[in-house]
Amino acid sequence: MTTHLMNTYARQPVAFVRGEGAYLWDESGKRYLDAVAGVAVNGLGHAHPSLVKAISEQAATLIHTSNLYRIPKQEELADRLCALSGMDKAFFCNSGCEANEAAIKLARLYGHGKGIEVPTIIVMEKSFHGRTMATLTASGNRKIQAGFEPLLSGFARVPFNDIEAIRQVAEHNKSVVAVLVEVVQGEGGINVLAAEFLAELRQICDAHGWLLMLDEVQTGIGRTGTWFGFQHSGVVPDVIALAKGLGSGMPIGACLARGEAAEVFKPGSHGSTFGGNPLACAVALATLAAIEEDKLLENVRVRGEAIRNGLRQALASLPGVVDIRGEGMMIGIELDRPCAELVGVTRDAGVLINVTADKVIRLVPPLIYGDAEVNVLVAAVSGVVKNYLQQAA
Ligand SMILES: *Cc1c(COP(=O)(O)O)cnc(C)c1O
Repeated sequence: MTTHLMNTYARQPVAFVRGEGAYLWDESGKRYLDAVAGVAVNGLGHAHPSLVKAISEQAATLIHTSNLYRIPKQEELADRLCALSGMDKAFFCNSGCEANEAAIKLARLYGHGKGIEVPTIIVMEKSFHGRTMATLTASGNRKIQAGFEPLLSGFARVPFNDIEAIRQVAEHNKSVVAVLVEVVQGEGGINVLAAEFLAELRQICDAHGWLLMLDEVQTGIGRTGTWFGFQHSGVVPDVIALAKGLGSGMPIGACLARGEAAEVFKPGSHGSTFGGNPLACAVALATLAAIEEDKLLENVRVRGEAIRNGLRQALASLPGVVDIRGEGMMIGIELDRPCAELVGVTRDAGVLINVTADKVIRLVPPLIYGDAEVNVLVAAVSGVVKNYLQQAA
């Protein structure tokens, strides 16, 4: 192992050399069922034929030209994302933090346009929005902020799912311009935003002229069984941040906006050298097309429900299992104790899972799972959890 990598990740002692569908193979030839999907990125699984085709064809034609010129593939992707989401305009970047960074800058510019000198964005406890200075400031996680002070000003934090707290801020803070929230908190432990919270939040935003901005970096692009997580609620936001699943592993992010918010940026306000290049956009278009052709939204709803039901049947009665929750193929099993070591135990058993927020097993499988994968995942995870809870008892 090289010593020339900065020590930012405590990496697992395994390297994958090949993937196909929902499976990965390591250097020794051992096969694993993937329930991590590159952290909710590889929605189509590995080596999906339409991705391979889109990447090879586009790479052989044109990879990058810059945003100094028109990029037809980028225009096509903007049209498609706006049609699917009900937004009016798109800005393309390369990652989730950049998509949120664009949303934060957009909200500040929107506020200054209304004469608000110190625009404030309401953000949530336990949220995760990325690792840039603005997005780690917006995140409700001290661990990712510690040591990076001074943080930015202009954020007000409230508890997740607490509409009264938002009303309080509305009453006392006249500089609020926007609210930024995840529909299901991913890193924070698969915490689902209540549908009635989102509806009430929409009303408050309308009453005060605030932008409702959703960080759908993890929930977007089919992960929860609809194209976007907010589509379970009937509420329409003003701004949406996207990344992870959008490029199936090719780096791309997007900030979508509607109405007044869509007109805030002007030439020179914001930009990105790589953002929305022909290759990334071709892969994103192929991803969206495959989700539609392979009927994956329906698959996510059905298989996601099957995974949750299977886990509930096997685990719900055990003391030590606090909750089994989620939406679509974004599933959390909360235990009453830290459980990071289950990642290695489950990996040895040939299944890749993730643990977040110390005590929550996070399952974000590729959207393409069939019955066989559902059964193997449920059996492996419930077996490992049962053992773990018994040992410790
Ligand atoms: C992963 C994630 C991000 C950060 O995305 P990067 O591509 O790592 O910058 C932001 N918000 C949410 C909700 C995420 O899950």
